[in-house]
Formats: sequence, C-alpha cells, structure tokens
Amino acid sequence: MALFPSESADTSAAGEAAAVLREFVQRIDAFDTPTPDAATVVEIAVGGQVVGLRPPVVRAFAEALRTYQDPRDRGTCDHCGGPRLDDNFICADCGQSSGVFGQLLRERAARYEPPDELPG
Ligand SMILES: [Zn+2]
Repeated sequence: MALFPSESADTSAAGEAAAVLREFVQRIDAFDTPTPDAATVVEIAVGGQVVGLRPPVVRAFAEALRTYQDPRDRGTCDHCGGPRLDDNFICADCGQSSGVFGQLLRERAARYEPPDELPG
C-alpha cells in the first residue's frame, strides 16, 4: 500500500525522484523512535513535492551521496587528469590511453608492424 497514492502514480523524473527520496526517508526513519528533538531540519522540494528530512536521514543522505560511485567512473586520466575514460580506458579529453591497460596498448602499438600488402 502506497503512503502517498496520488503521488505514487507520478511517473515523471521529478515524481520518481520524490518517490525514491520518500522511500529513503522511510527506510531510515524505521530505525529511530520519534522524539521531539528529531524534527525535520531539511526540506527538499522535488517537482513541487516537499520531503522533510530528520537529522538521521540527513546524515544517511549525505553519506549515500558521498559514497556513490557512478558505474561509468573509471578513475582519472594519467596524462591530463580528466575524469572521462571510456570502456577501453581511452581519455575523452586528451585521447590518450590510461592506466596499466593503456600502457599495454601503447607498448603493443609501438611494436606493431603492419603486414605486407597482399598481392592483388
Ligand atoms: Zn586525458
């Protein structure tokens, strides 16, 4: 059963974000006994909906944001420090390959000799 049935039907990006935030708040709130000093200290407005956060939720929310790692995050480029390495660890900023894999690619490329032309 949804606690906010009229809002749970909102499939917009803002509605989804608000629903996920409310679910997060409920997950953290479940561990704390409500006390008078545990009032809402932060309100986050998402798509016209306001979600209140108590101190334990603020701490958990901050920790969740700090520890999040994007699955596309492959570290920084060894050459320019840029953060945009592709699946092959090629930097989108300077075009160089990065890391041990990048070093192997550079070494192989340096040793590569193109095959002789095939007779036509
Ligand atoms: Zn780079």
